[in-house]
Amino acid sequence: MNAVKPNELTRNALPGVLDIEAYTPGMPIEELQRRLGLADVIKLASNENPLGASPMVAAALAKAAADNLALYPDGSGFRLKKKLAAYHGIGAECITLGNGSNDLLEFLSRIYAGPGRAVMFSDYAFAVYPLAAQAQNAERVVVPAYPSDHAMPYGHDLAAFAETLARRPDVSLVFIANPNNPTGTWNTPQEILGFLEHVPPHVIVALDEAYWDYQDPALRTDARPWLDRFPNLVITRTFSKIYGIASLRAGYALSHPTVADLLNRVRQPFNNNSFALIAAEAALDDQEFVRRSIELNTVERKRLDAELGKRGHTVLPSQANFITVGFGRDARPIHQGLLERGVIVRPMGSYGLPQFLRVTVGTATQNDRFLAALDEAIRSL
Ligand SMILES: *Cc1c(COP(=O)(O)O)cnc(C)c1O
Repeated sequence: MNAVKPNELTRNALPGVLDIEAYTPGMPIEELQRRLGLADVIKLASNENPLGASPMVAAALAKAAADNLALYPDGSGFRLKKKLAAYHGIGAECITLGNGSNDLLEFLSRIYAGPGRAVMFSDYAFAVYPLAAQAQNAERVVVPAYPSDHAMPYGHDLAAFAETLARRPDVSLVFIANPNNPTGTWNTPQEILGFLEHVPPHVIVALDEAYWDYQDPALRTDARPWLDRFPNLVITRTFSKIYGIASLRAGYALSHPTVADLLNRVRQPFNNNSFALIAAEAALDDQEFVRRSIELNTVERKRLDAELGKRGHTVLPSQANFITVGFGRDARPIHQGLLERGVIVRPMGSYGLPQFLRVTVGTATQNDRFLAALDEAIRSL
């Protein structure tokens, strides 16, 4: 290749992009098998559904594979939107589909963020928020989270959000994850409503509800009825977690039709492939599978929480399908010990929580294996 000075290739790149630290996903099972020559590996690192997906999804995909693959997908996602509209009791014109809900978070950033505008989110919030802001060369306003001794340790402090917003008229977009990843913490309906009442109408609030279904209905915020009152509210949901089709990439936003129209302008014409659309429809139809998934998660999350607590580890309160656990010491050797025993979990160093690991709630068998591997890994430190 021609000798090109690397700095010629970066000098015109946006400074925000140059500052990005690329997202590190949970390690794929195959990668650990390859690296350590292990056959039997489980992954509890990316909050995927341990039950897989509804059998109706596989059936729908098999049928779809026989369709004419030369044709582009339905770029409007008509059928899926119609189903979602009925499911949520909302107009189809309020729905935008994404290649995962990650797509929607980026669209919002593309529309509302940029140089001279700031994106606000909490410390210890989902890693995609800073990425989406930086890619737009927008400033990041990171709101301090609740302290470690708070009832909601490292959780979103929405009173601090409101105070920060009052000082920062350049904020155009706010991300709130409820429940939050990687902490599992959540905000009450009163907190969210109280914050929304403080937000000027031109500031968009993205409420990321990737883990909504996993929450105890008594603690859950149903923000859907607020869309009318707060046209600047955008709710995002995903098919990657409870519906178990993370591999296919499908998510969506519920918003005011004007916001949906803007989202629709910046998305790729065919951002959802046919298989993702068909699988999402089938997944949505099987609410019995959703119920089973919730039930398993509720029982096993509680058990993991108790088991880890019994061992003296610090367990953050979680209403999601994962548990974030602290060891009061650098967790990297524990993470490594788990890998050596064929258990993949998520280190939290990149989130500023180097003493913590995030563990997806698995099946009872997987959780038992994790606990046994954890005990062994700690013993052999
Ligand atoms: C997993 C997750 C998502 C969803 O990602 P997809 O792109 O839909 O797979 C969104 N927000 C949070 C906080 C998540 O943890």
